[in-house]
Amino acid sequence: MTDSRVVSGWGRTSPVSCRVHEVVAGDVGSVVVAAGGSGAGRGVLARGLGRSYGDAAQASGGDLIRLVDGGIDLDVSTGVVTVDAGTSLDELLRVSVPAGWFVPVTPGTRFVTVGGAIAADVHGKNHHRDGSFGGWVESFDMVLASGELVSVSPVSDPGLFWATVGGMGLTGVIVSARVRMIPVETSRMLVSTRRFGDLDSLMASMTERDDAFRYSVAWVDATVSGRRLGRGVVTWGEHATRDALSGRAGREPLSYAPSQRVGVPGVVGSVGVVRRWNAAAFSEAWFRKAPVSRDGEVQSIPAFFHPLDGVADWNRVYGRRGFVQYQFVVPDTAVDTVRQVLERVVVSKPADFLNVLKRFGAAGDGMLSFPMPGWTLTVDLPVVDGLGALLHELDDMVLSAGGRVYLAKDAHTTPAMITAGYLRLAEWRSVRDRVDPTRVFQSDLARRLAL
Ligand SMILES: Cc1cc2nc3c(=O)[nH]c(=O)nc-3n(C[C@H](O)[C@H](O)[C@H](O)COP(=O)(O)OP(=O)(O)OC[C@H]3O[C@@H](n4cnc5c(N)ncnc54)[C@H](O)[C@@H]3O)c2cc1C
Repeated sequence: MTDSRVVSGWGRTSPVSCRVHEVVAGDVGSVVVAAGGSGAGRGVLARGLGRSYGDAAQASGGDLIRLVDGGIDLDVSTGVVTVDAGTSLDELLRVSVPAGWFVPVTPGTRFVTVGGAIAADVHGKNHHRDGSFGGWVESFDMVLASGELVSVSPVSDPGLFWATVGGMGLTGVIVSARVRMIPVETSRMLVSTRRFGDLDSLMASMTERDDAFRYSVAWVDATVSGRRLGRGVVTWGEHATRDALSGRAGREPLSYAPSQRVGVPGVVGSVGVVRRWNAAAFSEAWFRKAPVSRDGEVQSIPAFFHPLDGVADWNRVYGRRGFVQYQFVVPDTAVDTVRQVLERVVVSKPADFLNVLKRFGAAGDGMLSFPMPGWTLTVDLPVVDGLGALLHELDDMVLSAGGRVYLAKDAHTTPAMITAGYLRLAEWRSVRDRVDPTRVFQSDLARRLAL
């Protein structure tokens, strides 16, 4: 099916019109060739579930390919799954968890596709231990700009493999992948929580305790300053073993049935204003509600990994102008930059409730992959007058600390920021020139950042 639609990223900041082709893998080649040969030059691009925040999954005036096959072939003895790229992690988990296998990496939502997870080389709460998604991919099949279907592994064509992992869809359309899953005995998590009154104690605790846990993440308050700057709540987690569960959970250790989502009712433009006004009160309540210290709490997979998925279309609460999710990473040595960015955000008061701090482990091999060893902070910023200037100020702080921003979240940054932050960009460009010399694959992000 093909039709014209207005699409945007999850932040809803720049909606554009595109032709959307919902196709099976076998038809991707002909759509790519037709779009590439049309002479219109507006590009063609794969789109997953549109969970990237900015303009990565859109090509204004161009063609978008949404894969509709949802095949999942899980080898329950090895945990290797062969999966169609349009399949969501939600669909994959519903098959794999009852069989005792979990996705190796999950972002904060399970409503992303396997193709989108590879193209953004997504990271999760286990990055310090397990790296990003691409490191778990054995191979994928992809359609190139020529329309040719090729099978790519880190051995068969390392250049193309690592340019596509994190390559934001600009090297071709991934149609299926082989991914190594991780074994789990149960569908529950054992969670440890600590509350900290300031940023120093919170970061020190993550540095000290992270290595003892597979998963860790912190929520930080971006509405308070002074001594309380960066106060927050850290949660660490492990997959619960069978003997850690009792009662119903113990009797059905691998049961997994995430509930259907409820929507955000009747959202209109003014809600954004009301919500901003409430961010400080909400953050205060959240902080007070968290236990000062608690260990051994049993949580479900959705509660631990995907709490926002319980509310459908929550991105609409930001009103008509939408919001930007600003995510950056700086090296371990640049801890002060985390504090300075947070201070700047608190002073300018655009921040909302959702602010996440995480320590990354070693970088993967993706040429445009975002993670590097150090600290990553994510802040949701509703679009208000003057936001652009603030974001460029934050970019300068991040860049001078040797950091970079995440392409899958970006909606504002400049080509210079990307060139300086992504040190393997030239290498990536040479692979892209080899497989797509005439720029058949394009996105609004690629045009804005002159990738
Ligand atoms: C609530 C929420 C929480 C999030 N948490 C995290 C997090 O913790 N960690 C993290 O890393 N990210 C996180 N993200 C971002 C998200 O994981 C990525 O943007 C992911 O790429 C979205 O997948 P998608 O299927 O929606 O892809 P889209 O957003 O539709 O596309 C993203 C990119 O992937 C490309 N692409 C999609 N499918 C294919 C394909 N088949 N072949 C080639 N390229 C393709 C697109 O061209 C585009 O460049 C979060 C997003 C949300 C909304």
